[in-house]
Amino acid sequence: MSGHYTDGAGDVKTRPSHTVTPIGDGYNPDMGERTHLLDLDLAALEDRFEADGLPRYRARQVLEWVYHKFARSFDEMTNLPLELRTKLAGVYHIRTSTVARRAGASDGVVKWLLQWPDGAACECVLIPDGDRRTACISSQVGCPVGCVFCASGLDGLERNLTCGQIVEQALLVARVCALGDDDPASPADDGVTRGAAVTTDDAATARLSNVVFMGAGEPLANYGPVLRAIRTLHADWGLGLGARRITLSTVGLPSQIRRLADENLPINLALSLHAPNEALRRRIIPWAALTPLSELIDACRHYFERSGREITLEYILLGGVNDGASHAEELARFTRQVRCNVNLIRYNPVDPLPYARPTAEAAKRFQEVLRARGVNAHLRRSRGLDIDAACGQLRRRTLTAQRVQVTVAREES
Ligand code: SF4
Repeated sequence: MSGHYTDGAGDVKTRPSHTVTPIGDGYNPDMGERTHLLDLDLAALEDRFEADGLPRYRARQVLEWVYHKFARSFDEMTNLPLELRTKLAGVYHIRTSTVARRAGASDGVVKWLLQWPDGAACECVLIPDGDRRTACISSQVGCPVGCVFCASGLDGLERNLTCGQIVEQALLVARVCALGDDDPASPADDGVTRGAAVTTDDAATARLSNVVFMGAGEPLANYGPVLRAIRTLHADWGLGLGARRITLSTVGLPSQIRRLADENLPINLALSLHAPNEALRRRIIPWAALTPLSELIDACRHYFERSGREITLEYILLGGVNDGASHAEELARFTRQVRCNVNLIRYNPVDPLPYARPTAEAAKRFQEVLRARGVNAHLRRSRGLDIDAACGQLRRRTLTAQRVQVTVAREES
């Protein structure tokens, strides 16, 4: 294996030193020279088929098998001639990751750590809630933003994910929703429930209904692959999710927010604010120094004007840091500048970070101050608390364990 690879942005990167053989589910994606099918949209696949002397309509058939029937191999595509299936299997990959870890919580939340052949790994999560089935997916491996409370940002950015790798996460969750979790062989995280409930009894509700870009990474810092992935999630030949069922969460890059507003894709935009003023925001989110709040507000207004979508302000309540009554008052004043609603989330502690989860009472008081001032504020339930609930924790623990394994193996050899 060479020491370098090309990332989703086309940049040549050095392979991370912790690259190890995946410890996962036995699936071994030999990438070879094959193309990741999930990197292609319908038009691109049709063009390729035509260039290879194949009928264009076969491209739509293939994508129907992948996105509507959740086929993982060309063998399953029984309305395609055997010769064609064999040929396609030599040219394209449908699945490129292995499940390195799977953790199921008692409330039905399931988290997977997917790992690619270069050793890079990211988390995706299924969050069932009534009729909803939400996939929370990652856009980067690690994160360049470095929010002080977050596990994903602790080691910085490892690399961008490609469009196909982003789509692959949503497709895994959609498949589990539709067909159940057929991957019991994947190793469970130590001490957590295996095979926790993914309710598929009611076929009408057992469909992936929402996708949120709230996993690892800053989606707008990996703009091209993320946008192409969103188009695949939305397309009728893809997962067919309405734009309003897709949410992109960002710490706020004003120029990229404006660009997104002009894409004619009215998805939900969530701004991770986490602080009601510039000074505190810069303490919590290092990139905030590059993006003054005044510019962000202008960009969010532009987004609202173009998309008609109210902005969601995400606010993680950190005990003793940003959860006081004065912060709530300041936040209420801030919200008057842009059409928005507020999501309050009690922090899930991350070892070894020094931040605390506020009490339920403190969070409720914060919400009441906002509501008394006319702000549409919701206090989100914490989900998956009996697994590594905070974004990036499963990855950190697993990769740390892998590094230990590698070190031990080196010492023994
Ligand atoms: S909270 Fe989001 S933006 Fe901040 S470091 Fe974590 S993944 Fe990156």
